[in-house]
Amino acid sequence: MGKNEFKFGLQFKATLENVTNVRPLGDDFRWFLKVKCGNCGEVPDKWQYVTLVESVPLKGGRGSASMVQKCKLCSRENSIGKAEDNEIFKTMVQFECRGLEPVDFQPQAGFAAEGAESGTPFPEINLLEKDWTDYDEKTKESVGIYEVTHKFIKC
Ligand SMILES: [Zn+2]
Repeated sequence: MGKNEFKFGLQFKATLENVTNVRPLGDDFRWFLKVKCGNCGEVPDKWQYVTLVESVPLKGGRGSASMVQKCKLCSRENSIGKAEDNEIFKTMVQFECRGLEPVDFQPQAGFAAEGAESGTPFPEINLLEKDWTDYDEKTKESVGIYEVTHKFIKC
């Protein structure tokens, strides 16, 4: 990786009630991020999504990325792509950032989990409110994901 290229891992923490394996569902999952320009420090106040299956070619034959954007302030072209090794559970995903730094993340719909004991699939979990509850018919227990928090780590 070149200058201004960093990997950032997005780590999740949540209180789980009778569910396990919380994960984003599908490669087209939308990661809603706020990102900072590594060149001038500008942080646009809008959520932008990165879909890791999207591939935009980078100028100068530097490969491709999921999102390419020009900083409105300094006109630097920055991009985010998917890092290869994202299999660690605690780290949900790793982003390969060229000139950008993710500073905030908004979980929305599109997560999945399964019953810790029963394996019951819960394929439609929305974490926008940072809390989610449901009922596991097999075990007759309530299930839930609470107090979702996240942080970015430089890998
Ligand atoms: Zn900039």
